[in-house]
Amino acid sequence: MMKKANLIMLGAPGSGKGTRAAALCEVLGVEQISTGDLFRHNISEGTELGKLAKSYMDKGELVPDDVTAAMLEDRLKQPDTKKGFILDGFPRTIRQAEMLDKMLSDLGEKITAVIYLDVPDEEIIRRISGRRICKSCQASYHVSFTPPMHEGRCDKCDSELVIRDDDKPETVKKRLEVFKSTTFPLVKYYEDKHLLVTIPPELSKAGAVADMRELARKLNLI
Ligand code: AMP
Repeated sequence: MMKKANLIMLGAPGSGKGTRAAALCEVLGVEQISTGDLFRHNISEGTELGKLAKSYMDKGELVPDDVTAAMLEDRLKQPDTKKGFILDGFPRTIRQAEMLDKMLSDLGEKITAVIYLDVPDEEIIRRISGRRICKSCQASYHVSFTPPMHEGRCDKCDSELVIRDDDKPETVKKRLEVFKSTTFPLVKYYEDKHLLVTIPPELSKAGAVADMRELARKLNLI
């Protein structure tokens, strides 16, 4: 029996949130909602929201809370989230967490658990420097850890793989600073609410889907 789950994936940029969120979605049959992907989609479509978001993202800064929360609220109101969801990249500030609590209570929903990936800085830099994303569907790869079947091409849609603009070394440094000063306090916020579950940053040999299936069992979600 599959239980409904509303989960948050928390961790520094490059900690592997996206990979685990995608695997957990596969296991639980719920939607992955990545605010970073929603912004990148808006940027590629050339929307006003995309233009605004890009001006912050290129500097490694956070997009303002109100803009990000409004975009997320629109997404959460779509019917496919009724079966559950995994937030990847939201919240990133205490204020966003408070806004999320309000949004969910208005929708009659609540958070099931917050999954935290605790990854050392050196490891983050190593992961980000090898990260490549699909220009078209945003699927993420790592040149050594999770390479695509054909170099430089997406396994899912065969489009070109590129380095994210904000994965350049200067921007990564800034993003890590922002994580420590602004996002890290969420660990305590959710610990105090007894929602935090810390998981190891490495994947086992069995891979992301098997690891996330085990986590889902531990959390009594399957
Ligand atoms: P990500 O793909 O999650 O690493 O996000 C890439 C960039 O998008 C971040 O560095 C921010 O500039 C922006 N972004 C994504 N999610 C949020 C959020 N919850 N709040 C503010 N900015 C965000």
